[in-house]
Amino acid sequence: MGLEKIILSFFDFVGSLDFNMFGFILGLVLVVFWLFIIGWVWVDSGERTSKRGLRVGYVLLSVFLNIPGLIIYLIIRPSETIEEIYWADLERRYLKYETADLGDCPKCGSQLFPGYVHCTNCGYTIKARCPKCNILVNKDHKYCEFCGFQLRERAVGEEKYPDVKVMEKQITATKEHAVETVESKRTRYKTGHSFVVKLGNAILTPLLSLKKEIQLKKDDLLEKVNKKEEKEEVKQSITNQPVNVSKKEYPKQNQKKKKKKKKKR
Ligand SMILES: [Zn+2]
Ligand SMILES: [Zn+2]
Repeated sequence: MGLEKIILSFFDFVGSLDFNMFGFILGLVLVVFWLFIIGWVWVDSGERTSKRGLRVGYVLLSVFLNIPGLIIYLIIRPSETIEEIYWADLERRYLKYETADLGDCPKCGSQLFPGYVHCTNCGYTIKARCPKCNILVNKDHKYCEFCGFQLRERAVGEEKYPDVKVMEKQITATKEHAVETVESKRTRYKTGHSFVVKLGNAILTPLLSLKKEIQLKKDDLLEKVNKKEEKEEVKQSITNQPVNVSKKEYPKQNQKKKKKKKKKR
């Protein structure tokens, strides 16, 4: 049957395998994988901390401990990237600014909307005119935000501390809202560069700059050669010229050459 043949040929194949070669390939793959881990740890830690010493520490961890080192790194690395922290802080500030006028009336608790000077339900005064600059400002602020005039002795707290149950409710609501926001809009702030692209850039950038330098040096050499040729041509033309040509031309040429040299430097 065909199956027997296949099994026999498989055993033949296994028997004929060169295990030295096999071990070499396995070792090569492991080394590549190890280098990949080191590169990944360097790039990933760069996204999470700006401290160079810490990054070198993380890389050394994966250099000496390999996969266990990688696992330790994954446990101890900062949980958020610098970009995530930046955007989270910016979003928090912006939301605070956007919702600054969306409080509740301190007296009756009804909802206030942006631009309200008085509560529409009870007539409570929310904003008052600054005595100095005459702009409507929140009357609970200590200083006018436009001219710096001191409005009152102390700033009034934005709201009284709610009791524990209310606070817990608020916290869970905020958390749920945060999870929702992040999960629905996760891709909004992502740059879209994967680790491989970043590693590629990290390797290619120095190579490209090296190439540029070599090109510049080549250009320099070519220029020097051209200059020498020019000089020789001038000498030849001088020797070939008849004797009665006025001597004034030579200094001019020399001056021109000097100017050229200065420019190139
Ligand atoms: Zn009110
Ligand atoms: Zn003012």
